[in-house]
Amino acid sequence: MAKTEFKAESKRLLEMMINSIYTQKEIFLRELISNASDAIDKLYYKALTDDNVTFDKDSYFIKVVPDKENRMLKIIDTGIGMTKEELETNLGTIAKSGSLSFKKETELKDGHDIIGQFGVGFYSAFMVADEVTVVSKALGSEEAYKWESEGAEGYTIVPCEKDSVGTEIFMKIKENTEDDTYDEFLEEYRLKAIIKKYSDFIRYPIKMDAAIKRPKEGSENEFEDVIEEETINSMVPIWRKNKSELTTEDYENFYAEKHYGFDKPLKHIHISVDGTIRYNSILFIPEKTPFDFYSKEFEKGLELYSSGVLIMDKCSDLLPDYFSFVKGMVDSEDLSLNISREMLQHDRQLKLIAKNIKSKIKSQLQTILKNDREKYEQFYNSFGRQLKFGVYNDFGMNKEELQDLIMFYSSMEKKLVTLDEYVSRMPEEQKYIYYASGETHQRIERLPQTELVADKGYEILYFTDDIDEFAIKMLMTYKEKEFKSVSSGDLGIDTEDQQNDEQQENENKELFEEMKTVLGDKVKEVKVSKRLKTHPVCLTTVGEVTIEMEKILKAMPD
Ligand code: ADP
Ligand code: MG
Repeated sequence: MAKTEFKAESKRLLEMMINSIYTQKEIFLRELISNASDAIDKLYYKALTDDNVTFDKDSYFIKVVPDKENRMLKIIDTGIGMTKEELETNLGTIAKSGSLSFKKETELKDGHDIIGQFGVGFYSAFMVADEVTVVSKALGSEEAYKWESEGAEGYTIVPCEKDSVGTEIFMKIKENTEDDTYDEFLEEYRLKAIIKKYSDFIRYPIKMDAAIKRPKEGSENEFEDVIEEETINSMVPIWRKNKSELTTEDYENFYAEKHYGFDKPLKHIHISVDGTIRYNSILFIPEKTPFDFYSKEFEKGLELYSSGVLIMDKCSDLLPDYFSFVKGMVDSEDLSLNISREMLQHDRQLKLIAKNIKSKIKSQLQTILKNDREKYEQFYNSFGRQLKFGVYNDFGMNKEELQDLIMFYSSMEKKLVTLDEYVSRMPEEQKYIYYASGETHQRIERLPQTELVADKGYEILYFTDDIDEFAIKMLMTYKEKEFKSVSSGDLGIDTEDQQNDEQQENENKELFEEMKTVLGDKVKEVKVSKRLKTHPVCLTTVGEVTIEMEKILKAMPD
C-alpha cells in the first residue's frame, strides 16, 4: 500500500520537533494525556449543544497500559475520536490543531479548558517510540481507522475494527541506546510518577492496572494475584475548589503532597482572581527556613499550570527575591505558551499575575503582623533576613513595599518591634531613630555609646544582623525620621552647655594632644565627649560608615 508522504517542510519540522523542542522525553505522556482529555472534553461540549449526544461523566476515562514484554505502551481514551479525515488533517499535518479549530468553531465561553492549541504535542510520542499506531472511531461514525507511522517517513491510514467511540494509541517504545534509556517508560511506577507530576489535575480519571494480592476466597493464608484498576490522578485541583469547602488540613496535605517542604506551612493563601487576568493560586509561607535557603543552591519559584496541566516546576518570575521563601502554585487559562508548552511566549500576563501575587503576599503578612504577633515573629525569625535584604537590594527600590514588614529588637520592649511602633513611641523632642550595632544584644547593651541615648529615655534598635545597617542606610528615613547610629559623632542630643564644653576642651588640651600623638593614624581626633556617663571613653565615627559596617566591609571578599 502506498504511503502518503509528509511534505518536505513537514519532514524537517518533525525532525526538529522530535529532537529539539522538548527538554525532557517524559513530556510525551503529558501531551498524549492532554489530547485524550481534550477529546473527552469535546464530547462533553458536544453533549451540551446536541441533544442526541449524552454525556455521563462516570463512563469516561483515560487508561495507560504498559506491556514490557512487547515494549508496547498503550494509551486509551473514551473521547470523541477521529474520522478518517481528521486523522489525516490533525495527525498528518504538523502544526494543525484540531483542538484550536474546535475552540474557535464552538465559540464556547467555557472552552478554555481545552488544552491543545499548537498541533505538535502528538508528535512528541516519537521521542520515545519508533512506531506509533492510532486506532480511532469518531462519534457518530460507523467505521474505525488505523493511522500508522514510523516518524519522518510518512503515515498510512487503513480501515480497522473498533467497537467503541474513542482513540487508542500504541507506541512501540525505543530500544535503549548508549546515551539514552527508554525502559523507564514501560515501568509502572515511573509512569505513575509522570502522570502524578504533570497530569494530576486532569479532570477525567487516568487509570492503570495494578496487580494486588488478595486473600483467596474461603482461605485465610492463601493469596492470589488480581488485577485491579487504579485511578492515578487526583482530578479535582484543590485550587479550583471553594475556599469554604476546604480545611486547614486540606491545605497542609496539599503542601506535603507537593513536597513544598517537610515542615507544616505557617500560613496558606488561596487566591482566585477573575478579572482582566484570571488565575487561581495557592501559596504557602513555610514555618521553617529550608536548609538551603540562604545558599546559592536555593531556587525560588512557583509551580505554573495552564488549565490544570503543569508547565513549569519553578517559575521564578512569579516571585520577587524578597518573597523567595513563598511556595505554591499558580494556574491560569490566560497564558500564552510557547510551542513546547514548557515556557511562556509573552510575559505580560505573567507580570500581571506576579504583581497581583506580590501584593497578596504583602497584605497577608501585614494581616498576620496585626492579628497574630506570635506567628509573625515566628515567620520573621525564619525569613526576616530576606526582607531586610529586599530593602537593601535593587538600590532600595522596594523599600516602600517592605519597610512596614521589617522588625528589630528594641532596648525598651526587649522584643522585636516594627519601625512604626518605634516612631509612634518617640517623645516629641526626639529627632532620630537610634540604633546600635553589635554581635549580640548583651554586647550592645555594654556599649558606652548607648548610655546617653538610653539615659534620655530614648528607645534603641539593636542591629545584630550583618544586613541591618546596610538596609537602614537604603531606607534613610522612616516617616521622615532619620536613622542615627549611637556611635555617630553628633547624636542630636543637647546636654551640657556650650561654655562648659569649651572649658573642658581647653583644660584637657595637652592631654588630648598627647593621646593623639600616641594613637597616631588610628584615630582622627581626640576630644571631649558629650555622651559619656559612667564610661571613661568611647569610639565614635565621622561620616556614613560606622565601625560595624566597616568590619563587615573588611570581611567581604574583594
Ligand atoms: P494540539 O493538542 O496542540 O492541538 P496535537 O499534536 O497534540 O496538537 O494534536 C493534534 C490534533 O489531533 C488535536 O488538536 C486533535 O484534534 C487531534 N487529536 C490528537 N489526539 C487525539 C485523541 N486522543 N482524540 C481525538 N483527537 C485527537
Ligand atoms: Mg495536544
